[in-house]
Amino acid sequence: MMKSRPMAAFVSFVGCLMDIQNEIFKQALCITDPIYIDDVIFEDGELHIHLNFYKGSEFPCPACNTMGCKAWDTYDKTWRHLNFFQYKCFLHFPSPRINCPDCGVHHSPHRGHDQEADLHCCLKLL
Ligand SMILES: [Zn+2]
Repeated sequence: MMKSRPMAAFVSFVGCLMDIQNEIFKQALCITDPIYIDDVIFEDGELHIHLNFYKGSEFPCPACNTMGCKAWDTYDKTWRHLNFFQYKCFLHFPSPRINCPDCGVHHSPHRGHDQEADLHCCLKLL
């Protein structure tokens, strides 16, 4: 079904608003490429920010620091962030396991450690 012109314009307008919203959260969280804000959901008094990384991104190996490793697969991680005003805030991220050509597949180097330290380390590495 084809969209009418007003509907197409509205969809385009909403898309622009979402881009602006995501850019604000990206800057506020100091997120840099290849990570981006995939979605922001405010529901039941909680803010859920969904992060992702661009397909084909390259990462350093957490074991030997070889650069340019691809993601092997991902596992979903959630971090409790500081409140957004009075509302709880959660960050969701499909954390990649890294496929290193020199030493194999590795999980994020700090999996299971302090969640906030893990997030900052993960975002810094990526
Ligand atoms: Zn390696």
